[in-house]
Amino acid sequence: MKTLKLRPGKERSLQRRHPWVFDSAIEKGNGDPGETVRVESHDGRFLAWASCSPASKIRARIWSFDEAQRIDAAFLAGRVQRAVAARGLFELQSDGVRLVHGEADGLPGLIVDRYGDTLVAQFLSAGAERWKSVLVDALLAATGLSRFYERSDASGREREGLKPVTGWLRGDGATEHVIREHGWRLSLDVATGHKTGFYLDQRDSRQRFAEMARHRRFRRVLNCFCYTGGFTVAALAGLKAADAVEGAELTSIDSSLPALERARANLALNGFEGAKAQFIDADVNASLRRFLDEGRTFDAIVLDPPKFAPTVAHAERAARAYKDINRLGLKLLAPGGVLLTFSCSGGIGADLFHKIVASAGIDAGVDGFISERLGAAPDHPMTIEFPEGEYLKGLVVVRKP
Ligand code: SAH
Repeated sequence: MKTLKLRPGKERSLQRRHPWVFDSAIEKGNGDPGETVRVESHDGRFLAWASCSPASKIRARIWSFDEAQRIDAAFLAGRVQRAVAARGLFELQSDGVRLVHGEADGLPGLIVDRYGDTLVAQFLSAGAERWKSVLVDALLAATGLSRFYERSDASGREREGLKPVTGWLRGDGATEHVIREHGWRLSLDVATGHKTGFYLDQRDSRQRFAEMARHRRFRRVLNCFCYTGGFTVAALAGLKAADAVEGAELTSIDSSLPALERARANLALNGFEGAKAQFIDADVNASLRRFLDEGRTFDAIVLDPPKFAPTVAHAERAARAYKDINRLGLKLLAPGGVLLTFSCSGGIGADLFHKIVASAGIDAGVDGFISERLGAAPDHPMTIEFPEGEYLKGLVVVRKP
């Protein structure tokens, strides 16, 4: 058994049950990719069992803080069962569900989503990669399913020294699915969609948007970074419940043409093919500037950009990018209008995001009420021990009338 010995004082974060060991904390020792190593303090006390990632700044990810625990197939199957069972504790209005959310479920580097009868996973760390076949068997056993697709083509793999891999691990067949979410249906393709095929984490924010549309009867809706149109479909569902689809204009922008084609199909799938909806294949920033020049305004705007800051190191440049789109978004908001603005960057905390939106408001000359805070749906949990797990944060800003 190989050992990682930490530098003096570096045991503290592990004693608080933080699940990562950074390379800078290690005095000596290393392991092979995915190998289970013993992590100990400078004076030789046991701290944790971890999987080693020799290529990464996150040199080890903790499996267990219990010295008596053996890290084997039975241990991993237990973790998988617990993660799947935990989803029964949440109110999930969908058959698209995140079953395993990495560190929060005690399975660092593993992401698993279920879309109907198919499991789709990302193996993002050397440890998850090493135990892949054991984890796949455990997941199929825990869910009673037989189809398993791999989407290990996320950028995090490179930092672990792993190559991208995609394809069926068990079973085969069609990769398209239609999931039911709250009161609507959405199609996706697990082979060609982003991440595992869809952004399940925004499920409940889409529902909030539907409720707002119903209550406020939005007439001009702008969905920026719309992907496959989830927020647009949600707005229409809300407007339909208020009998207000007619007269409403919905504009959706994304730079991915396949995503926009699916967005259009998703409107039709929900019976909204007759709605006044425009899909624009363009850069959001440029489009917002054009709308400003044209003197357009909107009653509701969604800003859900991609991860501008994958790590803390990118935070400064990302902060400028967030500020810029929020400044434009706030300027385009009609008085009384509502902005749903998000950041899914782990490197930008909730406080900093609020400050960025505040300074965007100052530059825009627009003040507003923060009427709500939004976050990832509960099947993407954050744990008490791992605050970094809070990656997705959203603010609902109502422009002062
Ligand atoms: N709100 C969506 C998820 C958005 S993900 C949902 O509910 O499903 C971010 C999206 O931004 C992706 O679809 C990506 O194609 C798009 N994107 C990234 N950079 C962009 C840019 N500069 N302009 C327009 N769209 C962009």
